Amino acid sequence: MTASPISNPSNSAPYIEIDAVSKSYDGGRSVAVSNVSLDVQQGSLVALVGGSGSGKTTLLKTINRLVDPDVGEVRIDGVPVSEAEPPMLRRSIGYVFQGIGLFPHMRVADNIAVTLKLRGWQASEIEARVAEMLDMVDLPQDYASRFPHMLSGGQRQRVGVARAIAARPRIVLMDEPLGALDPVTRDSLGSSYRELHDRFGMTTLMVTHDIQEAALMADRIVVMKNGRVLADDTPHTLMMGSGSDDPDVTALMEVPRRQAERIAALATQNGPARA
Ligand code: ADP
Ligand code: MG
Repeated sequence: MTASPISNPSNSAPYIEIDAVSKSYDGGRSVAVSNVSLDVQQGSLVALVGGSGSGKTTLLKTINRLVDPDVGEVRIDGVPVSEAEPPMLRRSIGYVFQGIGLFPHMRVADNIAVTLKLRGWQASEIEARVAEMLDMVDLPQDYASRFPHMLSGGQRQRVGVARAIAARPRIVLMDEPLGALDPVTRDSLGSSYRELHDRFGMTTLMVTHDIQEAALMADRIVVMKNGRVLADDTPHTLMMGSGSDDPDVTALMEVPRRQAERIAALATQNGPARA
């Protein structure tokens, strides 16, 4: 997987603006997101990483109003999302969230076509797009008529990704979309996704636990901890050890670097270099 350079024209206004957003649960006892500001340029792919409970999912959900912030504002193209009707907003943004699964009573084809139908596409257009999406996520065409319970977990995840981007939304939000996939599928779906992202000019925010995946796929990595942003920079800068003095960020970025060194050593020496 190779990330392309950030494709935003310089000095352009950010496409998604998260402006001093805070959100807590349980009447303020549980702080999920604490005064986070983040600008996302159109066409970029931003990876959100951080330990569990660091606020990644909550932050992502403020963009399509699955969560409304207590304080602060999210804007898309300069317009506050609080002014949009949540169903319309969600229809215009592709999303894959844990716990928001496929419709169990609908066949794979109908799951993928949900947004297309809401947008009034013709049956023949829908059929063609569903076939294209199945190819893209590497599922056989005859899976179109299967129900979700007839798929493995990884296959269901792929259908989820296909459904999210079938209508080629401008913005895609993904929460661990490649989580339960085997490494080969994960790598190939990651690469195909990045290609589509670039080809259709999508803007993507993707939560991942895998720092290597973040480094290889994203234009920018945002590291979160305790509801705050610890670091926000390009994979290159973070991998070179600049961009943050925070020991957690340093430790996190050392993982792929050390792994890469050990793999390189394996290829050139008789045995693995022990880190
Ligand atoms: P992450 O996705 O990084 O694991 P989350 O955004 O899911 O983090 O959660 C951040 C914090 O907010 C955690 O402490 C979590 O327990 C809490 N939290 C998240 N959703 C809810 C909820 N619906 N009700 C109560 N607490 C929540
Ligand atoms: Mg989460």
